Amino acid sequence: MDKLSSIPGLGPKTEIKLNELGIFTPTDLLYHFPSRYLDFSHTVKISSLSPDQSVTVTGKVQKFQNIFTRSGKNLQKATISDSSGNLDLIWFNQPYLSKTIPIGSVLSFAGTIQKYQSHLTLIAPVFGPYNTGQIIAIYPQTQGLTSNWFRKTLQAELPSLIQNITDSLPSDILRQYKLMPLPSALTHIHCPKNQTLLTAARLRLALDEIISLQAQSYLQKKTWTSLHPHTSFISTPVIEKKLQKFIKSLPFDLTPSQIKAWGEIKADLLSSQKPMNRLLQGDVGSGKTIPAMLSCLLASYNRSLSLLLVPTGILAHQHFATFKKFLPKLPLHLLTSSEKIKGKIAKNSIIIATHAALFQSPALKAKIALLIVDEQHKFGVKQRAFLGNTLAPPHCLTMTATPIPRTIGLTFLGHLDLSTIDHPPEDRIPTKTFLVPNQKTQNCYQWLQKHLQSSGEQAFVVCPFIDLSETLQTVKSAQVEFDNLSKNIFPNLRLALIHGRLKPAVRHQIIADFKDKKIDILVTTPIIEVGIDIPNSTTIIIQSADRFGLAQLHQLRGRVGRGSLQSYCYLFSESDNDKSQSRLKFLETNHNGLKIAEFDLKTRGPGEAFSTIQHGFPSLRLASLSNLKLITFSQKILQAILDRYPDFNFQSLVASSSPPNLHQTN
Ligand code: ADP
Ligand code: MG
Repeated sequence: MDKLSSIPGLGPKTEIKLNELGIFTPTDLLYHFPSRYLDFSHTVKISSLSPDQSVTVTGKVQKFQNIFTRSGKNLQKATISDSSGNLDLIWFNQPYLSKTIPIGSVLSFAGTIQKYQSHLTLIAPVFGPYNTGQIIAIYPQTQGLTSNWFRKTLQAELPSLIQNITDSLPSDILRQYKLMPLPSALTHIHCPKNQTLLTAARLRLALDEIISLQAQSYLQKKTWTSLHPHTSFISTPVIEKKLQKFIKSLPFDLTPSQIKAWGEIKADLLSSQKPMNRLLQGDVGSGKTIPAMLSCLLASYNRSLSLLLVPTGILAHQHFATFKKFLPKLPLHLLTSSEKIKGKIAKNSIIIATHAALFQSPALKAKIALLIVDEQHKFGVKQRAFLGNTLAPPHCLTMTATPIPRTIGLTFLGHLDLSTIDHPPEDRIPTKTFLVPNQKTQNCYQWLQKHLQSSGEQAFVVCPFIDLSETLQTVKSAQVEFDNLSKNIFPNLRLALIHGRLKPAVRHQIIADFKDKKIDILVTTPIIEVGIDIPNSTTIIIQSADRFGLAQLHQLRGRVGRGSLQSYCYLFSESDNDKSQSRLKFLETNHNGLKIAEFDLKTRGPGEAFSTIQHGFPSLRLASLSNLKLITFSQKILQAILDRYPDFNFQSLVASSSPPNLHQTN
């Protein structure tokens, strides 16, 4: 069976609906899993029923009434009996039931026992052979296809659907790890005989999802390892001396984490075996720029071109200024949508570019020996897609301030080598963070006014966004908020507004003025989220904080606390919903980005927690990306396959179970 239309009773209309769900083949249909189950496998005598129990009851139909209530409702009431007693069943607005529930017949009904007018009653029970006496699969009801339709079709067609399925895992691996074979797992996920089999089926299929991700990562790593670096760098005693001199010239000592990360990066850069493919993760403000700068320096001493890719023009300018300050002698270029490179590019240059601008200069790509991608989570570009199909790619360093939970590192980032800056510079103190209820916002503003006037420090106010991508609406609402703050709340302070729709030159002037302390409060859209480094700005107010993900709030908070001054973060929240309050409260006491990312991953799932900031998260049906136990188990299995079957076709694993990026509704 290889076409949906070969399934008996499946007409062209249904096929179109299935297509809309991303189901194009019988195998796709098999991989359309139930979203939950109702356990009606317990058949219970009427006398031993208790409230809230999910049960199947079998009895003889004694009575059936079609009742019109005084309030105009139409309900159906049946009474059944078994050897132990009588039970009432009630449905609403289903008069046709009188035909399917004839008096005197013996039928099974399944549902949850509830109290109705102080009697134990089965409300709207289901009945019939597909529905009772077993664990019932409930499918997401979408595109006009009911849960019942999926259940009936899958139950009836399972034997022939399963014939298409072959297990991609070797049988000795299945035996050793006591895994359910794939055809059985697909059977029991749709028609579980009992809870134990269902659990085993779910485990097997969840494992397949994770193994598939890990196999993809493994294949990526294998391909990358077979390549040669564009340029392999060397370090002579002279270069070594120069690097040390640069480190000594910095106004601070490197932290042990920075030294370690740089050591790892340097080893990669000096290796001629394969190009570097490393992810440098470190919380906001942990000092990732320094190892990046050292890498560029080493490349430059090797007369090679480096490229630092950043997500926004603001950040490009900031990096340009920092690099210029610390490396005044090196040829440095800025490439953004408004700045083009002037003159010839020397071989040992460092180019700082925005992504958009770089795409307009494809000729540059071939010359790059070192590629650094800052704030990687903002891009979501596939590095390979950017580099093209070159056999000698540059050394690649990606940097992210959204720490990657370990589980995610072990699944689909396994092809990257990881370096972590896990301690901030010593002079940092945690930013005091407060959740501010609606009625307290005025007090907060009064405090801010006094604080700024007495300390000479500065502040950010982040306006609610309507759309993260700086739409006209977001900008308008920021303008309204800015007018209100500058006229009514802080008439005595100097305020400025910045947003993504300003001309770059205007924007850079505002940032420069803020840096020069000509502005007290910078009112902004979430555009300032990444990278901005202005240590004298020590307070950040985030309006409508409940609209942001925690990881993103943590990023925003990272705009302050970037020096030795005590910093403050005030989270305004419009919603007094308990869940969103306790989510925000988590930030009051937690300052570790990794912990925050893990909490977000656990409470909201990867899609929600990372979708706005981290692209390309796979959507999984059964496995959870926060399930460390499952993920390490699957890694063990993958390793066992590698050890035993060196020529194993991992492509088969990748293909068999990786779901298309389906968004299940329900
Ligand atoms: P991020 O990891 O967010 O990119 P940055 O590299 O921008 O962080 O560094 C944040 C701030 O910390 C900068 O002002 C930088 O100059 C400073 N900094 C970096 N390393 C150290 C250090 N070892 N000691 C003190 N300050 C440091
Ligand atoms: Mg940075």
